[in-house]
Amino acid sequence: MRGFAARVRIFDGHNDALSRIARSGRPDARAGFLAGDGDGHLDLARAAAAGLAGGCFAVFTCPPPEDAYHDGSYFAAAPHGAAWREAMIQVGLLLRLERESGGRIRVARTAADLDRPGLAAVLHLEGAEPIGTRLEELELLHGAGMRSLGLTWSRPNAFATGVPFEFPGSPDAGPGLSAPGRALVAACNELGILVDVAHLNARGFWDVHAIQDGHRPLVCSHAGAHALSPSPRNLTDDQLRAIGESGGLVGINFHTGFLRADGAEDPDTPQDLIVAHARHVAEVAGIGAVALGSDFDGATMPAELRDVAGLPGLLDAFRAAGFGDADLEQVAHGNWRRVLEATWTA
Ligand code: ZN
Repeated sequence: MRGFAARVRIFDGHNDALSRIARSGRPDARAGFLAGDGDGHLDLARAAAAGLAGGCFAVFTCPPPEDAYHDGSYFAAAPHGAAWREAMIQVGLLLRLERESGGRIRVARTAADLDRPGLAAVLHLEGAEPIGTRLEELELLHGAGMRSLGLTWSRPNAFATGVPFEFPGSPDAGPGLSAPGRALVAACNELGILVDVAHLNARGFWDVHAIQDGHRPLVCSHAGAHALSPSPRNLTDDQLRAIGESGGLVGINFHTGFLRADGAEDPDTPQDLIVAHARHVAEVAGIGAVALGSDFDGATMPAELRDVAGLPGLLDAFRAAGFGDADLEQVAHGNWRRVLEATWTA
């Protein structure tokens, strides 16, 4: 019996379901997501059963072929035109899922949309390659409902530089934001689009911090604590403190390679490590900065957690570790709700 945890509303800060469905090559993958086909880490039936009330759905583009992952070109700058075409497919996919879901998925454009019945899907761009440096595409994406944007994935683009995948390593690698990168952050602020610093290198992080200057919460949608797992993808205590002071948050990532002290991508990893990262972020940045950022469909989950159906069990683990009802409500939903509303209405 999972008393409280089974009933708590959950907002998850990052999933890659759109790129999984778009790349599956299966014509029935969209219908399967809606019907609950059990594919991947996330579908609508499992999400509803777990109490998932909302989440950020990433549009992620990687124009090189998948096998480029192994020769390094996956991490090179991606061409803008191909990235735009791939992004349009994933944006269209989410809008189509919304229309075909009969109200079970709603693209959230305002804070009030986060409270409506069904799954509130925040359209997120992970890596700004689909946007040209004159930023016109940003207006189109905003018009389509995009309300969150990560400047980079783990590679350089015209706006900023992402952290490499190496272990151990520091996020302090490469230059800060370019002039178009600073303009993109300013344009997001003007439109009320959340600027996500996940995958961004340290100089870029501090550039965003300087531009936001206390006027916007700093948000990292999916990462962990560098003190517990020295991956460049994780945040140092200085970064965590700055996030806490800004009123922002960190979506704790479930990827085993960013949870473990040895950096291994190993499903044989206890989900209690997610709780340990959350506890560290709470100690350094405050409980208001602790949230969830699973990376479902984009990462190697602890086997114990497995997929979205494991969320109630994860919340039980938080409770067992001493998180009280009020703290848990913030971690599961309230902190994301607060930060999105502050960003979208500023
Ligand atoms: Zn990511």
